[in-house]
Amino acid sequence: MAKHTIVLIPGDGIGPEVMDATKRVIEATGLNVEWVELPAGAAALEQGYDNVLPQRTLAAISAHKVALKGPVTTPVGKGFTSVNVQLRKKLNLYAAVRPVRSVDGVKTRFENVDIVIIRENTEGLYSGIENEVVPGVVTSLKVATEAACTRIARYAFRYATRRHRKKITVFHKANIMKMSDGLFLASARKIHEEEYPNIDYEELIIDAGCMKLVQNPERFDMLLMENLYGDLVSDLCAGLVGGLGIVPGSNIGDEVAVFEAVHGSAPDIAGKSLANPLALIMSGVMMLQHIHEDAAAQKVQAAYDAVLREGKTLTRDLGGSANTAEFTDAIIGKMK
Ligand code: NAD
Repeated sequence: MAKHTIVLIPGDGIGPEVMDATKRVIEATGLNVEWVELPAGAAALEQGYDNVLPQRTLAAISAHKVALKGPVTTPVGKGFTSVNVQLRKKLNLYAAVRPVRSVDGVKTRFENVDIVIIRENTEGLYSGIENEVVPGVVTSLKVATEAACTRIARYAFRYATRRHRKKITVFHKANIMKMSDGLFLASARKIHEEEYPNIDYEELIIDAGCMKLVQNPERFDMLLMENLYGDLVSDLCAGLVGGLGIVPGSNIGDEVAVFEAVHGSAPDIAGKSLANPLALIMSGVMMLQHIHEDAAAQKVQAAYDAVLREGKTLTRDLGGSANTAEFTDAIIGKMK
């Protein structure tokens, strides 16, 4: 059996707890994995590094190409750039992929949500180019380049083709931001027409798109948008299926991919064994698919689906009373 070397960043707060659970579940598939454990976030500073993203951690991710990351705490007001922003920029992780799907056993207003959000991860208003023109007047630059718009559009259509998705909807505000969102739209349209005419394509102004999302999310298949819109809309979509506790995520580049849950380090419940590890386990499933271990991915997915369907062993956030280890054991129990 092929051995996989994966960088593992436990993170802060509940990070080590949910990471331990995820590691146990992945190992229970029988996969041959070598974990290279390295710190980021507050844990890195505690271990004596002078940066929340140590060079050693960054170099290991570059070398091994795949990382599983827990949530990290960026100390507020100490001048450190967020670990996540640093990772995306330094490793050129230009596509954020967030699949949002209704889960049996987690009751919400909607039943058949199955949407993949593709968010451009490197520019837009997250370029960090801000300027004080005169005291009391500031600007924040929204950057769009043809190269990045085309790259993310091509990624989305390629993903749709590989995953047998039917339709991509672009959310935009090109009626107001005619140049930046106009370029995003023109790039997506071009890739659709020239390279992927077989995938259905739709453009919606984002305000109307958000209304349609909460009225009838079942009508959407894949959503493609620039950085800020993707950030907001992916949390909105998480709300449709039961919240951040059950939504995985990944940051993908041409060379490297980092998989992580969307939720934070939850300091309020850290160390209490109350954390739900499911979002990170789901991110682990995305990672297994990425390294072409589809059978192992399916095994994990079927196991947590069964535990959720039964509804007997759930963590507190899902309405149960199981602790992190009990919930993890229940998933592993279904894999035997
Ligand atoms: P949070 O997601 O950590 O917590 C919000 C609420 O959700 C809390 O009540 C928490 O207890 C609960 N929660 C979160 N994850 C849970 C889980 N797996 N199981 C059960 N309950 C869970 O958001 P926050 O409080 O705004 O942020 C806390 C810290 O996390 C901050 O330092 C922030 O910067 C950091 N953060 C990191 C990431 C990341 O590394 N990807 C993402 C978001 C926030």
